[in-house]
Amino acid sequence: MASTNYHRASLRSERQIPTARGSVANASVRTKPASSKRSVAAGSLRASIDDENADSGRVRVAVRLRPKNAEDFPFDADFTDCVELQPELNRLKLRKNNWSSESYKFDEVFTESASQRRVYEAVAKPVVESILEGYNGTVMAYGQTGTGKTYTVGRLGKDDPSERGIMVRALEDIIANTNSNFDSVAVSYLQLYLESVQDLLAPEKTNIPIVEDPKTGEVSLPGASLVEIRDLDHSLELLQIGEANRYAANTKLNTESSRSHAILVVHVRRSLKKKEENDASSLASALNGDLPSFSMPIVQKSKLLVVDLAGSERIDKSGSEGHMLEEAKFINLSLTSLGKCINALAENGPHIPTRDSKLTRLLRDSFGGTARTSLIITIGPSARHYSETASTIMFGQRAMKIVNTIKLKEEVDYESLCRRLEYQIDYLTSDMDRQQKLRDTEKEQMEKKLKAYEVSLTDAEKKLVVKSEDFEKEKIHLELKIKSLLEELNTQKGENNHLFEEVVRLETCLKQSKQHQLENSTYQKILADTTQMYEKKITELLKHLEDKNSHYSTLEAQMTEMQQQLNDNQKLLQIKEKVIDELQQEMSKLNKEAESKIQSLEAQKNELLLRKESLNKELKALQEKLLYEEMQRRTLEDDIVKSKNALNDHSTELEYKRSHQMDSSIRSASVLGGALNTPKPNKSRETISTQRDTISKIFEEVGLSNIVGLLKSEDLDVQIHAVKMIANLAAEDMNQEKIVEEGGLDALLTLLESSENTSIHRVTAGALANLAMNGLNQDLIMSKGGARLLAHIASRTDDPQTLRMVAGAIANLCGNEKLRMMLKEDGGIKALLGMVRSGNNDVIAQIARGMANFAKCESRGIKQGYKRGRSLLIEDGALNWMISSSTTFSAPIRRHIELALCHLAQNVSAEDNARDFVSNGGVKELVRISQESSREDMRNLASKALNSNPTFLAETRGV
Ligand code: ADP
Ligand code: MG
Repeated sequence: MASTNYHRASLRSERQIPTARGSVANASVRTKPASSKRSVAAGSLRASIDDENADSGRVRVAVRLRPKNAEDFPFDADFTDCVELQPELNRLKLRKNNWSSESYKFDEVFTESASQRRVYEAVAKPVVESILEGYNGTVMAYGQTGTGKTYTVGRLGKDDPSERGIMVRALEDIIANTNSNFDSVAVSYLQLYLESVQDLLAPEKTNIPIVEDPKTGEVSLPGASLVEIRDLDHSLELLQIGEANRYAANTKLNTESSRSHAILVVHVRRSLKKKEENDASSLASALNGDLPSFSMPIVQKSKLLVVDLAGSERIDKSGSEGHMLEEAKFINLSLTSLGKCINALAENGPHIPTRDSKLTRLLRDSFGGTARTSLIITIGPSARHYSETASTIMFGQRAMKIVNTIKLKEEVDYESLCRRLEYQIDYLTSDMDRQQKLRDTEKEQMEKKLKAYEVSLTDAEKKLVVKSEDFEKEKIHLELKIKSLLEELNTQKGENNHLFEEVVRLETCLKQSKQHQLENSTYQKILADTTQMYEKKITELLKHLEDKNSHYSTLEAQMTEMQQQLNDNQKLLQIKEKVIDELQQEMSKLNKEAESKIQSLEAQKNELLLRKESLNKELKALQEKLLYEEMQRRTLEDDIVKSKNALNDHSTELEYKRSHQMDSSIRSASVLGGALNTPKPNKSRETISTQRDTISKIFEEVGLSNIVGLLKSEDLDVQIHAVKMIANLAAEDMNQEKIVEEGGLDALLTLLESSENTSIHRVTAGALANLAMNGLNQDLIMSKGGARLLAHIASRTDDPQTLRMVAGAIANLCGNEKLRMMLKEDGGIKALLGMVRSGNNDVIAQIARGMANFAKCESRGIKQGYKRGRSLLIEDGALNWMISSSTTFSAPIRRHIELALCHLAQNVSAEDNARDFVSNGGVKELVRISQESSREDMRNLASKALNSNPTFLAETRGV
């Protein structure tokens, strides 16, 4: 228990309005896998909305009355109980004797019939929700032995799950709302007896020391076993082991369990990041050259204490425990010192004696510290225990005055941040190495290719030289051959000419000798022979000439062919030279390309090195920024605490103002008993108006349209909170018009129609109930089919809180004269009657109020002359219910029903109504009201109705 003891609460709603501030932004990033299962705790509408809004750090105190048992009866058969509960007012009357009693107000009053579930939802669930959001929390039971502390807190409900107590239900909720991949849940279970801490999960460990962190003041028990929970069965198993060990330890110590304190500690550790995806994407962006998107890994470490205290009765009274006086002092030391601390805190004392006992040291954070704390005090009905009951109630009253400073237990997860950064640097370094290697091999390959090209080029050059030499040689050879052939041809020509001359000469000779033949016959014969011989010789010569000629033409053909070949070869040579040129050009181009590529690779390498350096610098800068932001966050947190205090003051004022100004019947539908803040009538009017300005400023900054926009969010949790904010705003007349203008009403109706979620149904109906306080809005809600939607929800759920909101909304619509017919046609009255099945007093109070409103409008309509015929209310069968239940319920409900009956009865001109009244036994009821009603105006109204109607008068005579 911190000695800085009177701080105002922190505002959870503020934390969830998305702003640029660190922790708030983080909170909105978070994903909650099972958030859809969450619901706001039971309790009145106003209470739940206020809780969310003002999020008071005040210790919440509920009182629970144990049913009478066999022990009470023989003694108390003739006595009346010493307590009387007024759960609808959250009040408890403590009767000292027949003529004096005191009344006390609590946050919640549970009658003997309250279910374990309702107690859990109202007392412990808000604390468990805080734990899941990263705050510490405590749920503690206080009371006399035998009043039901262990029943409320520690019951396992193995055979009957409806009997399960707070410990089991809290663990179940925590397991369902955490993700075992990112979060961890671990428990310790301890017993404190005679100022010694014993481990209930390992009973051999006794006298475990309590250790305090000198810096943070955080209390821990390193010697106790801390068991990580796998699932619900496992946690049940642990609770069972603890229970068995508690029983065994107490038997061994020869004491009752009522003298020891049992403490369950649940450690919840949650990581607020989606890990793999983020790492992968930031790496990918790093490789693309972007700055990696940087979101801090946050870890929340919260702790839930569930405490089943020892019996609060005086030890000398319960007596025979066989302890020595010294021991007896010790037994009560922890409880006595808890009482002293609570007193000191409640009275704002200068010194809080926290260090006096082990219990107060363990509960240091729960009272006057940073935890959200709920206390349930248990009492028995018996008048025999008047003084114990009275002291328990006083303990609760004092505890209600303590206000804790709720603090978020979250910190940057430096370990995982470091791991992530190291991983990124390693990845970048190895990537750089890989790139370098790639460049080296590429360079090598280029060089190899270049060499190969050079070799093939010299080869080609060599081949070219050899070939051109060959060609040269062949050319010379061919030229020589041509020359010799030409010479031969020339000699052949000379020879031919010579032979031709010879032939000519021989022919002339032949001519001459022929002439001589004639002259000389002898000569003739010789001549003939000579001629013959010459002729032969000529033919031979001719033939020879022919041969020579043909040989000559062959040679000529050969020569042309050779010349042709020579030409071809020369052409080939030219082509080859051209190819060599091209190859040389290509090679120089390749050389240039390789050079430029190597240069660019080198530039890339330099760039990468620079990048690595700049990344390292950025890392350092980020780390510095982190430190700076951490400091800034702290200052901001201080600021927030201050503004929260101011706002909290303001809420109190507003509440006070409301309770004094509002039409009680309508506003109570939205308030529904939640006004926990005590009024401070001494504050001035100006303060109230400046504070109202402050609140409207806050909403102006966030923007109503943004809040309305959030109604369409994908995240259910966000949706629920947005509806709650709108519901709160709608409670102020001045905001209603704006909400409708911004499309809030349409969005709420769409949400009510489309959502399957009970929490949404409940808070949306609450918001509509607030909007339906205004006549203009009533028209709009009706014309947009709101009544039909509300009737539909009423038929689908059995959740009393939802039904209360729906009934409240319809009850407000019942107060509009113009909409009567439409409301009936849309099933509004039928829906009201249908909700009677819930049996819940708060729901029935709204139903009764709605009927009173409706009946009032009807009778007004008849008086003004535009309504006649049978009452719509009677037509839908409400009369029967009203008559049969007018004496069944508590005073406020009764008053509504009586009022409705009186209005219906006043409708004298409509004979139908009078007949219905008579046939349903309504006249008898009117007579009863006129005589017995607790309110005079009601008695007068009933008498007036009776006397003004002859049918009734005739019937009374019969009665
Ligand atoms: P304490 O722990 O305060 O000494 P217990 O939880 O042991 O009291 O309750 C005493 C007895 O009364 C038990 O038998 C318990 O089952 C019964 N009891 C207590 N509260 C209730 C309740 N709300 N409904 C039914 N039985 C109850
Ligand atoms: Mg007990």
